[in-house]
Formats: sequence, C-alpha cells, structure tokens
Amino acid sequence: MNDQDDNKQIIDRIQAIRDDLGKKLLILTHHYQRKEIVALGDYQGDSFGLSQKAAEDKDAQYIVFCGVHFMAESAEILSQAHQTVQIPKTEAGCWMADMADNHVVTEAWDELTSITGPGSIMPIVYMNSDAELKAFCGLQGGTVCTSSNAPDALRWAFTQREKVLFFPDQHLGRNTGNQMGIRPDEMILWNPKKPLGGNTPDDVKKAKVILWDGYCLVHTRFQVEHVRKMREKFPQSKLVVHPECTQEVVAMADAVGSTSYIVKYVKEAPPDTTIIIGTEINLINRLALEHPDKKIFELHYSLCPNMFKINLNNLLWTLENVGKVNVIKVREDIKVDARAALDRMLDLAPQNKSLKGKDPSDKGQIPVAM
Ligand code: SF4
Repeated sequence: MNDQDDNKQIIDRIQAIRDDLGKKLLILTHHYQRKEIVALGDYQGDSFGLSQKAAEDKDAQYIVFCGVHFMAESAEILSQAHQTVQIPKTEAGCWMADMADNHVVTEAWDELTSITGPGSIMPIVYMNSDAELKAFCGLQGGTVCTSSNAPDALRWAFTQREKVLFFPDQHLGRNTGNQMGIRPDEMILWNPKKPLGGNTPDDVKKAKVILWDGYCLVHTRFQVEHVRKMREKFPQSKLVVHPECTQEVVAMADAVGSTSYIVKYVKEAPPDTTIIIGTEINLINRLALEHPDKKIFELHYSLCPNMFKINLNNLLWTLENVGKVNVIKVREDIKVDARAALDRMLDLAPQNKSLKGKDPSDKGQIPVAM
C-alpha cells in the first residue's frame, strides 16, 4: 500500500468519526496547518477567529484544536464547562510564546512600575503566550491582542493609561506603533536578561511603548534581501507580509496583515495578479492551490515546525480517543483572570485590515505602497 492509500484510509476513518459525532464535535484548524488537516476542519482561521469560534459554539462537546498549544489553551479558557478541548500533539508549542513567562514579566512589571508609578502602564499580551501571562494581563486590567486587532488594542490602551507594555512579540508591537504614528524614540526594547531591560530610568519615563524582546523565528527569517530579489524577478508583483516580520521588511511591503487578512487579500486580488507572500509556507502553498488564476510565490521558504507536528495520524488517534487524550486543562484561578483579558480582546472589533496601504475590499483594489 502506498502513502496515498494510507492517507485515504485515515481520512475515511476521520470522516466516519465526524459523521458519527455530528455537532458534538468541532475541529478547529489554524491557517498554518497542513492542507489535509485544514480540509478536515469545521472552521479554519487565525488565532482570533478560532478563539471567537471556540467561545461561540455551545453545541460541541468536544473541541479538537489543530494549532499550537497556546491556541488550544485559549479555546479551553473560553469554552463552557461541558466542553473538552484536545490538541492532537501536545508538543506543538510556540518559540515566541516561550520567550516570556510569568516570572520574568512580573519582574519587569515591578521594575517598570517602580519608575512610572502605579496605574500608568497598560499590559497588552499577544495571543502567542501561555495562559499565566494572559491571567497576569487580566489581573492588571490589560487585554490580549492578535495580529488582527493589535491597532484596536493599542488605541484602547491609550484611552486608559499613558504607556503600554507589549509582549512577547516586539515586531507586531513596533509595526503597530509605527502605523499609529508613535515615534521610534518613544518605543523602547525590554531585554529581560539586562538590568532595567537595557534601559535607563529616563528612557522608561519617556517611552510610550515598551516592547518585549521576543520574536517569531518563522517571520523574522524574511530579509530585505529576499524582498529585493523577488521584486527584481517579478517587478509587477504585489507583496503582502505578516506583521510579525521586521519593520524593514514591512516598510517594503504593499500590504501588511494577519493570516486572515492575507487570505482575504489574495481572494480579492484581480485575476492574473502576481502576489508574493511573507508568511508560513503551508498557508502560501494552500493559497496557490486555491487560486490558480493568480500567481502566488513565497517571499522565502519558512515553515513553522510546531504547526507541522500535527498530522493525520495524531488527529485520528485524538478522535478515536475523543474527550480522553491530550485534554487541555487550565488551572481554575488562572482561567478566571485570563478569561477577563480574553473577553476584553473579544470586545475589541477585529479590523482585519492592512497595517499599511488600502484594504483590498476597497473598490476591489489591491493596497498600494505608501
Ligand atoms: S509561526 Fe511563529 S508565532 Fe506562530 S506558532 Fe509558529 S513559532 Fe509561534
């Protein structure tokens, strides 16, 4: 038997379980999952859309989350008491989420507030973080954000307090700050390994945004050189990138937005457009298959090995043991505070717009370079 026959048998078994469980089962799949996994999902989306779905669906008894660990954790926090959340592979973590933990963030918070005084800094934690950090934010009156709604989160924060601590992704924070017109000298980097994050007390007092020194290895792989090379090769092309890319790459792009924004951008682009995309390769490959009328290329090959850990075999195994294996459980006290921060995020309307350029839905045009 070859691999294809093997896969077909597994897919048939997964389908049979789906048919059997009907509405009792909800399979959520992130855009970066393998295409055969996405094809089996009830809903595909980015971390914002998937957490909304997890919060809304009251029928499903079993939520199987095909994404990385922090996403399944958020789904568990937002789910109801009668629901169980499972992840097909518990080792599917996130490098960026591992760059900040509750201990170091609390230390930084104490140092910062000892300079700025209480009630002056709003913590905003990116979705890509563990539940304890979301709980920290909830406790301090802050919110969670995703790449879909980071500008809304920052705008909201500045209506409440004068400064923002943004963690763990420095690039999403900086790109959003740039888009909002916050000056580079008003955004400082906080390196948790250095005293005062590598800053002086004066730097902290002057800063509007304090950016945690974290990053996504998948998106920081894209370099200015890659943009130059692709622009030379395809001079008529449009470049759309994810806001976890560096500000140098973002500055060269025609449009910037979350994975859902990128999906929408490609869908709404006129036929025959050449689009170069700076994000995870599984999404790009799928978009190329779904839109044969457009020419779609990756800015550079970049795969998220964590997302790739979920495959047909471990999905089938999870479904054969539905409600029993790889169940995600968040401690009740953490859950309450993390839920407060996630609820604040869900109250912020997701804009799903480009951080720069025009939205492709505007008169059906593609965003143009600024
Ligand atoms: S793409 Fe980056 S941020 Fe997203 S899960 Fe993978 S390592 Fe984490």
